[in-house]
Amino acid sequence: MTNECRVYVACLACYVEGKLNGQWMTADELDIAWDHDWSDDNGKRILCPHDEHEEWAIHDYDMHGVNLGEHPDIADLIELMRLVDEDSDYAIALELVKGVGADYDAQRIMEVRDAMVCYDCRGDWAREMCEDIYHAELEALPHFITHTIDWDWVGRELEYDYYTHDVGYATYAIHVGEF
Ligand SMILES: [Zn+2]
Repeated sequence: MTNECRVYVACLACYVEGKLNGQWMTADELDIAWDHDWSDDNGKRILCPHDEHEEWAIHDYDMHGVNLGEHPDIADLIELMRLVDEDSDYAIALELVKGVGADYDAQRIMEVRDAMVCYDCRGDWAREMCEDIYHAELEALPHFITHTIDWDWVGRELEYDYYTHDVGYATYAIHVGEF
C-alpha cells in the first residue's frame, strides 16, 4: 500500500454509455497520461479501449480528503498532488483555502501552509498568543486576576479573526488578514 495521492480518471464517453472504464493514477502516472492524451508510453489507451474516446472526468480522489471536482485543471491537479505527496499538511492548507472560497494554486497553498497555525486546545493557543503579545500587561496584573482568565473564551473571541478547519481533535487556523 502506498500513501501517494491517486485520482480515478474515468472515460466520460463510456460513462455516458453506462460503462465504467477508467484508471487510478498517481501524480506521475497522470502526468504521463495527460501528456500523451490518455495513452501510455506505448500508445495504448489508458482509460478505455476506444481510440475515439477523448472526454474524461475525475470520478474519485484518494488525496487526504481533498476533492477538486470532476474537471479540475489537470496541470494544477498534478502539482497539488505532488505537494500533498510531499507533506499531507498541504491537503489541510488546500481545504482551508477552499473553505474560504479563495483562488488557489500550488504557490498559494505553500504560503497558506506556512502561515496556518495548529492547536489541539483553543485555550492554550489563546493563552500562549496573549502571553506573547501582552507579556508586560499580564505580568503587571496580580495572579488572582490572571489565574481566573477563561482562556477558552478568549480563544473563541480570537477565532472570529481566523478561518478554521478541524481535523480530528486538531484545529488548523489562518488569520483572515492572509486573504
Ligand atoms: Zn471510453
